[in-house]
Amino acid sequence: MPDISIPAGLLPADGRFGCGPSKVRPEAVDALAAAKTTYLGTSHRQATVRFMVSALRNGLAELLALPDGYEVILGNGGTTAFWDAATFGLVERRSQHLSFGEFSAKFAAAVAAAPHLDEPEVIDSPPGTHPESTPTPDVDAYALTHNETSTGVAMTPARPPGVSAGEALVLVDATSAAGGLRFDPTEVDVYYFAPQKCLASDGGLWLAAVSPAALERIERIARSGRWIPASLDLSIALENSRKDQTYNTPALATIFLAVQQVEWINGNGGLEWAASRCDTSAEIIYGWAERSDHATPFVERPEDRSHVVATIDLDDAVDANVVAGVLRRNGIVDTESYRKLGRNQLRIALFPAIEPADVEALTHCIDHVVGALRE
Ligand SMILES: *Cc1c(COP(=O)(O)O)cnc(C)c1O
Repeated sequence: MPDISIPAGLLPADGRFGCGPSKVRPEAVDALAAAKTTYLGTSHRQATVRFMVSALRNGLAELLALPDGYEVILGNGGTTAFWDAATFGLVERRSQHLSFGEFSAKFAAAVAAAPHLDEPEVIDSPPGTHPESTPTPDVDAYALTHNETSTGVAMTPARPPGVSAGEALVLVDATSAAGGLRFDPTEVDVYYFAPQKCLASDGGLWLAAVSPAALERIERIARSGRWIPASLDLSIALENSRKDQTYNTPALATIFLAVQQVEWINGNGGLEWAASRCDTSAEIIYGWAERSDHATPFVERPEDRSHVVATIDLDDAVDANVVAGVLRRNGIVDTESYRKLGRNQLRIALFPAIEPADVEALTHCIDHVVGALRE
């Protein structure tokens, strides 16, 4: 690794640009430390922790502007466990998946492997683009991804043309989008995510905003006699969530930090404020890349470029792994591209917790490193 030192004046105030686990605001950690003898290490079945779970559920309902009848439910295991739970408890017979990167492909694979479901319909498109969902008569669940974290492509979650609410469910993986990108909740039935991205907390938990139609589906499938392991049973998660609990013990710090972030965003103006902040960061990074002679936005269509995860291709003359390595030695971490995409690329999180001024500083640091490597 070349020994390049970035001048202190160019460095961002905080060097964390990873896409998950992502930057946790120091103020949130300080608040957690202040609760070290009153909250941490206490029972999740008692009022103190249940109050925190309630604050998370209510705060998310406010942040996501959920319509009446939608409920926020939660459980352990992160988004990956939620895919398994959805395979058991949300897909009735057949799902359709828009597959345009690592994460969207994984949910499709989980459903395809399930012996109790029909072969899913998978519509894919090359990395850097996204497909559109099309109505299919025997599909009862449409699986979309609001933001494909592996490629930096975002799409607007919407019901397929001609498919009205109540006819089929729309399930949206919003793991890296929830709290940072705008959406219309009436267009979705299940908007699920984990708190280690825009919610600036830790991993291991899943959260889902669930419509009345999806609640009805969860309860109907649970009564149908289908075998569902208890830890993946959404009807059990629902029952516990309504009591502000989880089926088994959650990570209390994760819940606490997520509440800190949700209340920070709500207190500053809600989703519109957070999304505008991400818009600013996106304008900075894509604007820089378009003007630069050594960087280019990977996603061609500007409307597909994610405002929470930017993927930036570097000129073949500079090795992106070396650039990311030099940045890391200077305290700027996790700008490496998604390993399986295999491009000469940097991937940079623009989540609400990340200061737009730090994104700006990062662009100057990259220019400095590329300049030094070319000498
Ligand atoms: C990070 C991510 C996941 C995986 O989340 P886990 O909590 O690690 O299971 C799934 N989908 C998307 C879009 C993600 O960004």
